Amino acid sequence: MDVFGLVGNPVGHSLSPPMHEAAFEARELDATYVTFEPDESDLSAAIEGAAALGIEGLNVTIPFKEAVLELVTPTETARRIGAVNTIDLTGPRATGYNTDAAGARRALAHHDVSLAGSDVVILGAGGAARAVAFAVAERAERLRIANRTTERAVDLAEAVGASGHGLDEAADLLEEADLLVNATSVGMREDRSPVPADALHEDLVVMDAVYAPLSTRLLQDAEGVGATTIDGGWMLLYQGVEAFEIWTGLDAPVDEMNQALRTALERQ
Ligand code: NAP
Repeated sequence: MDVFGLVGNPVGHSLSPPMHEAAFEARELDATYVTFEPDESDLSAAIEGAAALGIEGLNVTIPFKEAVLELVTPTETARRIGAVNTIDLTGPRATGYNTDAAGARRALAHHDVSLAGSDVVILGAGGAARAVAFAVAERAERLRIANRTTERAVDLAEAVGASGHGLDEAADLLEEADLLVNATSVGMREDRSPVPADALHEDLVVMDAVYAPLSTRLLQDAEGVGATTIDGGWMLLYQGVEAFEIWTGLDAPVDEMNQALRTALERQ
């Protein structure tokens, strides 16, 4: 049986096991997906041990996404983003990918959102925002990044050729925007939006990285003005789809993975 897994701490409430188990079942693979919670000091031994034991692939989550970068051979994208969330252990060397970037791009493509010629505003400058920014930067016509800590937005913007702003400028930035991505944690398990409702307009596509809850205050406000909305489950789904495809070389069973993920999200 092929073994895949998730390394993080904590991983108890992860949505990845049901999503990947559903994919293995749909593709009739003799495979399983398990969770591991090593101490930070054991991370290097854990990755080496996983390879030695014949584990095929790992997802990596908080708090290890950055530290793992030093323990694997990262792809160019993962290196530029500065974080690894998927490791392929099948080759001679452990290769580290960042599938959050492809996850964001594929979530947009699933909803027929084209980045070509678009004016994009990203909120946040943490791990999720970095992945989204690298995913969007080379295709968007204009990219602006706004964050509570302005300096972090400016640093990220510099790395991707965008402009950096304070979160208090977001309402002004949205006037001309086609796409807004919330990659802050604002709205996570709270009824709060990172931007005022009256800054949103019907020509906007609003994608939220926050998936707990799926229907965030931001997305409810966006629906209220007739904007198109994409919830955080889509980015989560497609980072998993991308990981499955890296590990197995097969097309992922997207519908089955989505169904399993949505069921797990409803239970959270
Ligand atoms: P992170 O690295 O800790 O970054 C958090 C970001 O949120 C920073 O930009 C931070 O601003 C901002 N922030 C936090 N509290 C804030 C507040 N009270 N007001 C304004 N801004 C605030 O976290 P992350 O890993 O990027 O995750 C961000 C969110 O995305 C989380 O909800 C996470 O669950 C979600 N996520 C979703 C996916 C997906 O696949 N859907 C993937 C990854 C992450 P400062 O820089 O000023 O601190």
